[in-house]
Amino acid sequence: MQIYNTFSRKKEEFTPLNPPLVTMYMCGPTVYNYFHIGNARSFIMADIVRRYLQFCGFDVKFIMNLTDVDDNIIKKALEEKRPADEVAQFYSNAFFEDINKLKIKPATTYPKATMHVQEMINVINELEKKGIAYNVDGNVFYDISKFPSYGKLSGKKTDELESGSRVEINEAKRNPLDFALWKKAKDGEPSWDSPWGKGRPGWHIECTAMSTKHLGKSIDIHAGGNDLIFPHHENEIAQSEACFEQKFVKYWMHFGFLNIQNEKMSKSLGNFFTARDVLAKYSAETIRLFFAQTHYGGPLNFSDELLNSAKKGCEKISNLIEVAENQIRNNSQEGVDPEFDFQKYRNDFMSVMDDDFNTPQAVAVIFDFIRAINKIIAENEKINVRFFHQVKLMLKETAYDVLGIVDMDEKHTDSNLSIENELIELLIKVRDELKKEKQFSLADQVRDGLAKIGITIKDTKSGVTFKRD
Ligand code: AMP
Ligand code: ZN
Repeated sequence: MQIYNTFSRKKEEFTPLNPPLVTMYMCGPTVYNYFHIGNARSFIMADIVRRYLQFCGFDVKFIMNLTDVDDNIIKKALEEKRPADEVAQFYSNAFFEDINKLKIKPATTYPKATMHVQEMINVINELEKKGIAYNVDGNVFYDISKFPSYGKLSGKKTDELESGSRVEINEAKRNPLDFALWKKAKDGEPSWDSPWGKGRPGWHIECTAMSTKHLGKSIDIHAGGNDLIFPHHENEIAQSEACFEQKFVKYWMHFGFLNIQNEKMSKSLGNFFTARDVLAKYSAETIRLFFAQTHYGGPLNFSDELLNSAKKGCEKISNLIEVAENQIRNNSQEGVDPEFDFQKYRNDFMSVMDDDFNTPQAVAVIFDFIRAINKIIAENEKINVRFFHQVKLMLKETAYDVLGIVDMDEKHTDSNLSIENELIELLIKVRDELKKEKQFSLADQVRDGLAKIGITIKDTKSGVTFKRD
C-alpha cells in the first residue's frame, strides 16, 4: 500500500510501526459552531482511510481530539452570554450527532483538550527545562531558534513562513514565529493553575499532549486539512520531537479543501453550509459519494450539480442491491450460473485503494461492476441465487463497508420494514380480538410491549393506526 506523505512530498510504501496496529490521529473540530460541509470532507475522507485500513486487516486505533478551549469559544460565549464550557458542550453534542448522521465510524476515543491540561503542562515544563520554552510574565512561548529543523514539514525557510502566513503578533515573543504554549489568564476566561500562574494552553500543545497520551510518542498517521500544515502541524512536530527526542509522525496526510466558488469554505469567511443543512437535502451516502469522487488530496468545489449526480449514482447501487436481495429472498436454486470474475473487481478495487486511497478510481470500479452485472441480469431470464449472494457481498464490502456510499444497515432495508409492519399489524389484530373477548389486561400488555420498542398504537374512529417514534 502506498500513501502520499506530505513530509517527503511523495508516495511511500505504508509500513506501520507495530503491525497489525495502526495508530492514526486526526485534528478534530474546535467546538464553537455547527461544523460545515468543508470540515465534513476532511472527517469523511479520514473515515474512509480508517475503514479501508480495517478492511485490509489492520487494527486501527483512531483518535480525534475536540478543541474545547480556545479564543473562538470564548468569543462565542461572550456573544451568547453563557459560560464557555456550556458553549463547548453544546457544540460537542452537535458534532457527535452530525458525524453519526454522516455515517462516520466512531473514533476509538475523542479526547477533549480541557481533560488533558495536566499532560500539556508536563510537556511545557519539559520544554522549559530544556531551554526551548521561555516565560514572559505568565505567557510561555516556544523558541523556534532552538529547533533547527523548524519548517521541515511545510518545506519552507523561516523567513518565507513569516511573510506568508498568519502568525500571531505579540511583542513579548523573541521571534515572530515563536508560538504560545501557555497563555496567561484574562478576566472572565477559563483558566487552570500552572507553574507560570493561572492560564490556559495554546492550541498546538493540545495535539502533542493528547496524541502522546492516547497513541504514544511516535504515531503512524497524522491527518488533518491542508490548512493545518502550517503552523499547526509544524508546531506539533517542534513540540513533540524537542520534548521526546524521537520522530513524531511516520506519515503526514492532508486533505484538500472543499471550496465554494474556488475559495476555501471556512467559518471565518462565512461562506459555508453546515453539514446539517446539507444533510437536510442529501443523504449521508450521497454526500460521501460526492466526496469520494475526488481524490482526498485535491481541491473540490461544492456543487449542487455534483451532489445531484452523486444522488443518481447512489440510486444505481441501491437498485442493484434491491434486485439482489429480492432474488436472495426468492432463493431460486434454478437458472444459469453465469461466468463472472467477482475476484477481478475486488482486486481492482483494492489495487486502486492501495494506491494512496484513490477513491475516484474505486468508485469507477464499482460502477463498472454494476454495469457488467446489470448486463448479465438483462441477458438471462433465470439466474441462480448463488450469483446474487456474490453480487451483494461485493457491494457490501466495497460500497458499504469501505466507502459508506450505500445504506445496507439491517434495520433500514425495505424488506425488513415490510416484515416488521406485517408483524405489527398482526399484533394489532390480536389486541382487537383480546378486547372483544374482554381480556383487557392482555390487550394492554400488547400495546405497552409495542410502546416499549418505540411503536405507538392509536385507536381512531377509522380503526387502529400505529406510528414509530
Ligand atoms: P476546525 O474546526 O476549523 O479546526 O477544522 C476541523 C477540521 O476540518 C480540520 O482538520 C481542518 O483542516 C478541516 N477543514 C476546515 N476547513 C476545511 C475545508 N474547507 N475543506 C476541507 N477541510 C477543512
Ligand atoms: Zn491538531
